[in-house]
Amino acid sequence: MGSDGSPDCEETIERLYIYLDGELTEERRVAIQAHLDDCSPCLDAYDFEAELRRVIAMKCRDHVPESLLARVRRALEDEERRAGSGA
Ligand SMILES: [Zn+2]
Repeated sequence: MGSDGSPDCEETIERLYIYLDGELTEERRVAIQAHLDDCSPCLDAYDFEAELRRVIAMKCRDHVPESLLARVRRALEDEERRAGSGA
């Protein structure tokens, strides 16, 4: 956590979901955006989460093949493993 009150990585990841839902206050949204601009691991997580949401949205509209879901699930597990072991 920076002394200027900007969110750290943990907070950023925690708020990604809310950020993607567009339910953060303007102030927090800007703070998260600033962190994403500075921090490529968090930006990667953001990209991944955004992509995942696109897939889920597609799934609601359409039928997504099980093979694609399995791939997404595997990618998610990899991501979690990387997040857990790194830093
Ligand atoms: Zn970060």
